Amino acid sequence: MELGIQVKYNQTLGKSITLQELQQKYDAVFLAIGSNVPMQMNIEGEDLQGVYGGNKLLENNEHPDYKGKKVAVIGGGNVAIDCARTIKRKGAQEVYIIYRRAEEQMPAEKKEIEEAKEEGITFLFQNNIVKILPKENTKENIKRVQKIECIKTELVQKEGDLRPSPVDIKGSNYFLEMDYVVMAIGSKPEQEIVKSLSIQTNTKGYIEVDRNYMTSQKGIFAGGDITGSKATVAWAARAGRNAAEAINEYLK
Ligand SMILES: Cc1cc2nc3c(=O)[nH]c(=O)nc-3n(C[C@H](O)[C@H](O)[C@H](O)COP(=O)(O)OP(=O)(O)OC[C@H]3O[C@@H](n4cnc5c(N)ncnc54)[C@H](O)[C@@H]3O)c2cc1C
Repeated sequence: MELGIQVKYNQTLGKSITLQELQQKYDAVFLAIGSNVPMQMNIEGEDLQGVYGGNKLLENNEHPDYKGKKVAVIGGGNVAIDCARTIKRKGAQEVYIIYRRAEEQMPAEKKEIEEAKEEGITFLFQNNIVKILPKENTKENIKRVQKIECIKTELVQKEGDLRPSPVDIKGSNYFLEMDYVVMAIGSKPEQEIVKSLSIQTNTKGYIEVDRNYMTSQKGIFAGGDITGSKATVAWAARAGRNAAEAINEYLK
């Protein structure tokens, strides 16, 4: 507040306010709307009640009652670890992290993996989820998760690939009883919002910027996860600082 910054709450760009409106009011705009739509695996049963997107679960802090329940978290990054540890602390009976590669290849920080193990999280390395199955014979209309079908994987070094790829081991399928499944396999920008901005994006839907963080529209800047940079706090903070300097130059 001492810097004279005004914060306007409950405004959603692309919904309650448009980029055109901002352009009319301000000489420069900086977009830092993140990239928080959970990715999906497109497997059978992903639409069942009890399947959640990991970062939405944490971002909105809206959780089901985990007490006495079994939860599978799919993924190998820091988001998967954060989800698993949060869910365990909220009372889940058993929490599994299912990751298709080996422990050494897990992108999550080593310290976090160790701490998760100490907290009682079960890691299923070189395992993949192939299907989510609903409870059968229930009187409810809503179909809920009852179990998951998994498959074991082996790691195969393919020519030209930097790291070995997980390949399903035929016939190694097995089932695990589960109450909830949390997908933590990455996130992407909210396409509906990004498209409404009429700004150039790359093939993955991230906003493109030049070396001064300016987008394809003059005076509209962007930084952080929405530009597809390495999804860490440090890189986002750096982008914010660099973009602020570039915006100051632009306004001179
Ligand atoms: C569960 C989880 C764990 C993580 N763990 C780590 C970690 O351990 N270390 C690390 O370095 N990084 C971690 N990250 C990544 C890190 O949080 C991000 O890289 C960083 O926060 C990106 O900053 P940002 O400002 O670009 O976007 P965000 O921090 O995502 O902020 C975007 C903001 O814009 C708002 N918004 C979205 N759309 C609109 C709209 N249309 N209009 C207005 N506002 C909008 C969102 O509500 C949000 O508040 C983690 C991320 C998650 C989800």
